[in-house]
Amino acid sequence: MKLTLHRGAQEVGGSCVEISSGGSRILVDFGLPLDFDFTTDKIESCLPETVSKLLKQDDKSIDGVLLSHPHLDHYGLASQLPASVPIYCGKAAWDLMNATAQFTRNKIAVPQAKHFKSYQLFQIGDFAITPYLMDHSAFDSYGFHISSGGKNIFYSGDFRGHGRKSKLLKRLPDMLPPLDALLMEGTLVGHRVNEAHSSESELEEACVKVIEDTQGIVMVTTSSQNIDRLVTIFKAAKRCGRMFIIDFYTAEILETLKGYARLPNAEWPGIRVCYPQHLARHFEKEGLDAILERHRKNGIRWTRINELKSKIVMLVRPGFIWDLKRFMDLGKATWIYSMWPGYFERSDSLRRLKSFLEGGGVRYEYLHTSGHARLEDLETFVQKVSPKMLVPIHSFYPSQYQEHFENVRLLIDGEGLDL
Ligand SMILES: [Zn+2]
Repeated sequence: MKLTLHRGAQEVGGSCVEISSGGSRILVDFGLPLDFDFTTDKIESCLPETVSKLLKQDDKSIDGVLLSHPHLDHYGLASQLPASVPIYCGKAAWDLMNATAQFTRNKIAVPQAKHFKSYQLFQIGDFAITPYLMDHSAFDSYGFHISSGGKNIFYSGDFRGHGRKSKLLKRLPDMLPPLDALLMEGTLVGHRVNEAHSSESELEEACVKVIEDTQGIVMVTTSSQNIDRLVTIFKAAKRCGRMFIIDFYTAEILETLKGYARLPNAEWPGIRVCYPQHLARHFEKEGLDAILERHRKNGIRWTRINELKSKIVMLVRPGFIWDLKRFMDLGKATWIYSMWPGYFERSDSLRRLKSFLEGGGVRYEYLHTSGHARLEDLETFVQKVSPKMLVPIHSFYPSQYQEHFENVRLLIDGEGLDL
């Protein structure tokens, strides 16, 4: 078996691993680099050169591409694959990726795919592959046990042990065979070790405290794709006897995933859907009127939100400033920011929202925990699995693995390794 990290050996994002054995070759993840700029960069220019070469030689040179989860840094290049290369991913992940492609400006869809299920072995050429559902901030995330010719490797994908599905990580080591190599993400290895102080349930407690402590409206900014977090906020709001207001975009995401898990959705009592003007215009322009209409029956007017403000927790994003200015009294309000703080440096509109709310005297609270594993959870996992070789991936500090783990094998992008 031979491993090649085409990208991701020294960075978070843009993951792409090639595994070949016998006469078969697969890619695991095919993502966009994290610094990809949708306004200036072309997607086709982001393909790792080594993969482009392979595909140019022969468009059937790759027998399949596994996508671990619906984050762009893991699937963003899938649309660039020739139709002759089959894609494999979770069904909910596929639905989510394609629903998102409709609404977002980047329009990155994933072509037709075959769907695997957790713990169910399937075959691609000479490879036997078993997907394992993982605890991560993206819904329907997997790691893969891949075996061929008597060799066994595990690709972790992105994962953590402090989310709402933390049990998954605890029981995983007992389910795996002895591993020749473990390819493990280390997003928080290095300078970001402090980003996962609390678990998702501790975060819920902290949210409850902040909500109880607020007399006006509580606004929360988070990703509508972070389903664990939406559940956390909904539960906290419910415990405080407050209604949870989501926008129709979030309502549509939750509707998409309704069949896969018992998740809060717009039909539930205690949840109502708001219609921010900018977002509604964008959807109309894109011909997505059907989505707007679908959630109207669960809608709530801005004037009503303002009347009920002391009984409401509402998701807000930068595009809502117009509506907040026009309809809302933000006296005694709190804004909970519940995403990676690094986004403030990247997003002008997020900074605008922050200064608008701060300018209005709104109390600011940062309540977030990372979607990636804490160092101590990585250490426990590696100790239990005890792989013959540990290959860092999805980390800006791969060399720091050597301080925490044994049998580390550092690779650079494009370098092959025979197992
Ligand atoms: Zn991820």
